[in-house]
Parts: sequence; C-alpha cells; structure tokens
Amino acid sequence: KSAADAIEALTALVPDFPKPGIVFRDLTPVFADGSALRLVTDALVEPFRGRVDVVAGVEARGFVLAAAAAYALGVGVAVIRKAGKLPPDVISESYSLEYGEATLEVQPHNLPSGCRVLVLDDILATGGTLAAATTLVERAGWTVTGVSVVLELDGLGGREALPGRDIRSLVVA
Ligand code: 5GP
Repeated sequence: KSAADAIEALTALVPDFPKPGIVFRDLTPVFADGSALRLVTDALVEPFRGRVDVVAGVEARGFVLAAAAAYALGVGVAVIRKAGKLPPDVISESYSLEYGEATLEVQPHNLPSGCRVLVLDDILATGGTLAAATTLVERAGWTVTGVSVVLELDGLGGREALPGRDIRSLVVA
C-alpha cells in the first residue's frame, strides 16, 4: 500500500466544519494508524533525504509530522508556533486569513545560520501559512530545502503563494 492510498482511505471529510459551507479534511485518522503514519512520514521526507539538517513543523498538526520525519532522518525539529507561545528571542511573520490575521513565530537562536530546513504541514490550502513559515525560516538565516505536505487542496492558489519553492504533496484533492 502507498502513502497516497492510506491518505485517501483514512482522511475524513467533515461537512460544515469549522463553519457552514466548509468541508474540513480531518487527517487525524491517518495519524492514528501506525502503518499509515509510517508510510506518510517516509514519503514526506524521501524527496529531500540527504539535504536536510532540521525539520520544521507548523503548529499544531505539522508538529506531529515534523517529529516523526526528524526521527526518520536522524535530525532535530524546529517549531514554528502561533504568536505568544515561544519565549524570547522570537521573530514574527503575520499573514492574512479569510477573516483577520494570524502570526507565526520562530526562535532564530537555536540553529546555526545556513542550516537546511524541510518545512512540513498537514495541508496546503491558500498557501498563506506555509508562505509565512518559509519566510520566517529565511529571516532566521536558514535555507528552505523544500516543503512537504500530506494533502494539497487544488484550485486555492497554494503553489502560487510559494513561488520558487520545491513543494511536494502526497495527495492532491
Ligand atoms: P492555508 O494557509 O494554506 O490557507 O491553510 C493551511 C493551514 O490551514 C494548515 O495549517 C492546515 O492545517 C489548515 N487547514 C486548512 N484547511 C484545512 C482542512 O480542510 N483540514 C485541516 N486539517 N486543516 C486545514
């Protein structure tokens, strides 16, 4: 069985969550299944193996993937957190949501400048989250090796929001 088969079989489609009219793709059943989590983790890291010094995960579902991926690669984790969670020193990057704004933060002092970062998240939708995350990685003085996501939602402009990035998705829906 492939990672894509496991994702397609296990992803739950939840209508009207978190708001009426939105079909939420819930990947927690993929995380809950041991063989699926292993297939997904291996597939996320495979294109970038040998070119990664640290795996960065975006809070919160990206953390689950980043820890597993870092273990698979034998490297550490950098956490990209929502505003106000990390103690100083932090750098911040804000981006627009459908309604309002969100901010992500990272601690630049934990890793050497120039270190090569694989950025992970569960879903690429409009790309706002991963654009902010990759900008933060570069503002921290690190380089972005690539971006891997479990699921890419087609037609929302996610790739256009991340020009020049090497983006891999295991399933496009
Ligand atoms: P974007 O910034 O690309 O529009 O949205 C991606 C972020 O929103 C990711 O961090 C992802 O966790 C979350 N997200 C957007 N849509 C969904 C969805 O249908 N299911 C899940 N699990 N997360 C979503």
